[in-house]
Amino acid sequence: MLAGEIQKVENAGADYLHIDVMDGHFVPNITAGPLVIKDIRKHSRLIFDVHLMIENPDLYIDEFASAGADIITVHAETCNHLHRVLARIEEKGIKAGLALNPATSLSAVEYVLPLVDLLLIMTVNPGFGGQIFIEEMVRKISAAKNMLKNIESDAEIEVDGGINQDTASAAAAAGARVLVAGSAIFKAHDQAEAIKTIRNNALQACRS
Ligand code: ZN
Repeated sequence: MLAGEIQKVENAGADYLHIDVMDGHFVPNITAGPLVIKDIRKHSRLIFDVHLMIENPDLYIDEFASAGADIITVHAETCNHLHRVLARIEEKGIKAGLALNPATSLSAVEYVLPLVDLLLIMTVNPGFGGQIFIEEMVRKISAAKNMLKNIESDAEIEVDGGINQDTASAAAAAGARVLVAGSAIFKAHDQAEAIKTIRNNALQACRS
């Protein structure tokens, strides 16, 4: 069932499979853990982008790495020793992602940015799907882009939350290059068409 859904978005043209891992503590929901990821890994060649919305993510890096994650993203808000956690992900030979809730300032992570391959600007408060894109985050994406440029980092900016064919343009124009879309794809009648429209709108916004 899950494998079938994943196959469907893979065929529809998705580049990444963004997996939200929730523990019922940092966010209210509980979702897939490493065992599920290990299982679906067998059925998909997509890049597994594992977004850990859990407390103490440092305790689970090894497990998610061996389950087949290509990118592991941790929240700045959940790590007392963020530098160490990001370094641990890199040691595993996978890409290190860093996520910021809407209320968390970029300055809080300035000094660990050199360790980051993917900077995830949450465009909703994490926890559940179907929320509305927070417009103020466009300014945060631009600020993140400048901050990365200043340190000559080639980390990509990812956005997650409320991304659809309209908000994709604003996010991409501000500097986002990896767009996570849930409802906009899974609720569409034609997933391939939905992915294509989001991608085209984003590409057009980057060029203009
Ligand atoms: Zn996510």
